[in-house]
Amino acid sequence: MILDEPVPGLVRIRLPLPFQLNHVYVHAVRRNGGWMLIDTGLGDEACMDALDEAFIQAGILWRDVNDIFLTHTHPDHVGGAPELLKRTGARLWMSAGERDHLAEVATSAHVADWFTPTVRRAGANESEISEMEEAFTSVRHKFVPLQPDHTLHGGELIGTALGPLETVLTPGHSPAHLALHQDERKLLLSGDHVLTNITPNISWMPGRDMLGEYHDSLERVARLEVDEILPSHGRAFYGLVAWVESAKRHHQVRCDGLLNGLAMGACSARELLPVLWAKPLAAWNLRFALFEVLAHLEYLLQRGFVAKKEGDIERWQVTPHSRPTHGGG
Ligand SMILES: [Zn+2]
Repeated sequence: MILDEPVPGLVRIRLPLPFQLNHVYVHAVRRNGGWMLIDTGLGDEACMDALDEAFIQAGILWRDVNDIFLTHTHPDHVGGAPELLKRTGARLWMSAGERDHLAEVATSAHVADWFTPTVRRAGANESEISEMEEAFTSVRHKFVPLQPDHTLHGGELIGTALGPLETVLTPGHSPAHLALHQDERKLLLSGDHVLTNITPNISWMPGRDMLGEYHDSLERVARLEVDEILPSHGRAFYGLVAWVESAKRHHQVRCDGLLNGLAMGACSARELLPVLWAKPLAAWNLRFALFEVLAHLEYLLQRGFVAKKEGDIERWQVTPHSRPTHGGG
């Protein structure tokens, strides 16, 4: 089944993805006599066909989609947006930070300007760098700059038939991810911030402490009244506070692993990567893994547990204050 209705007025649609993570959920919510679509899928033929079929099953007409909301601008969430905006004429809702990030990625000729210098400093070799660049270039066409009609910062209320959905700024997986919370129904549309059985990849952004921001975002959702969580990948589930605790532990274990790896002596992020991923990774996953290592190192750097020696290749080392377990917050 590609479609269900966990709450009357909220339709959950499963779309196929050609990746190891083989599906993404988009949601349609009744609003002002029409529908608001939350995320769009990848926008490839299989995804668009599945969305067409789901709309027929649910009795949703394209012309009734008046609003499109984006949780964040990764390809599996934003890829269908240009086509769907054209089909529907819908108003677009997205965060200012994701708009700016998308514009940067979409307008750079190849990869973002900071990408290659960053992975080179992290210690990736030249063949890995060109493979990672190629992997990005293969999805490059999915990124088109988008101009929202409603630019969001978190804390806005969007009126729907379910009651108001509050936007919750949850950076970490992406620079300005938004989740949606329905207070009376204790419902969290968590996007990729909270996922079933897996933890989201933490991205790395220049000048930001993305793992620290992710921890703050976890605290932010843990304070909300939530029973049911509807994530973008995986089944709906209950138990947000326990999930948040396990996600924090997961990152603490990763931090401890990196500190233990550094106990042998200074090394680059690339040299540390097998501490967290023992098996060799193909270019697409290597890129995410390397940035995740960098996000953890930045987190440890900000808290004084590691130091960084600048150079053509940055080398990381433990500081005298370093101790393996540090609470994660
Ligand atoms: Zn996703």
